[in-house]
Amino acid sequence: MIIASNVTKQFGKLKALDDVSTTCNKGECIALIGPNGSGKTTFIKCILGMVVPDSGFITFKDKNILHHWKYRDGIGYMPQIGRYPDNMTIGQVLDMMKDIRNKKTALDEDLIKAFSLHNLLNKRMRTLSGGTRQKVSAALAFLFDPAVLILDEPTAGLDPVAAESLKEKIIAEKEKGKLVLITSHVLSELDDLVTRIIYMQEGKLLFNKTIEALRHDTGEDKLSKAIASVMTGLTPNLSSKERKF
Ligand code: ADP
Ligand code: MG
Repeated sequence: MIIASNVTKQFGKLKALDDVSTTCNKGECIALIGPNGSGKTTFIKCILGMVVPDSGFITFKDKNILHHWKYRDGIGYMPQIGRYPDNMTIGQVLDMMKDIRNKKTALDEDLIKAFSLHNLLNKRMRTLSGGTRQKVSAALAFLFDPAVLILDEPTAGLDPVAAESLKEKIIAEKEKGKLVLITSHVLSELDDLVTRIIYMQEGKLLFNKTIEALRHDTGEDKLSKAIASVMTGLTPNLSSKERKF
């Protein structure tokens, strides 16, 4: 569904993405993980067309996305930091997005219900806590029933109940055959969610493995342990502190 081929992006001297290639298929839930600044958000923004690679290319359903935008109809995006007009209410933001997307088929309001956003429609965006803002971003990502969901650190700032609702929703959508791309620092919450792990470091893909392969290769069931085990193998000189997630 999405193919990235030798994608490279430099900001000044810094190589934010260094020859990144991968394929993402429907029905997969792919976790993009790696330390801060390793290029996860930049990679996501390349897929969305918000950052243009210096070299390499990305295709969406076999078409190069360069200079195209229509394909974005098929993507729901939850940004790491959602920015909204301060003076608009939640209700106005939802209505504005519905107007812009102009989707004729039914909307998916599951998360609006799960997060009880109906009770907050008159609240202005500037007055919202970080967590409530995240709920609005999550609800918007799923609202238009897109074939691809791209979620950048989705549970950061969410309370445990909301995080669990979101996780259930992600699993349900993946089982419907959607493609979910998710970045997260909290490995424990990815355990029964993801089908594949892409680990990035300094703009490079360090490894790209299915969960089965990862568990088989490491003999570890828990994701955090399996990844720590791969990392230890790749970088034997890491101190135990650096290995911790
Ligand atoms: P991650 O999401 O993995 O934490 P990012 O993709 O946000 O990492 O950032 C990768 C690197 O690229 C960081 O060093 C960041 O400072 C840099 N970077 C990202 N966007 C820009 C930009 N627009 N201009 C300059 N540097 C940027
Ligand atoms: Mg990021």
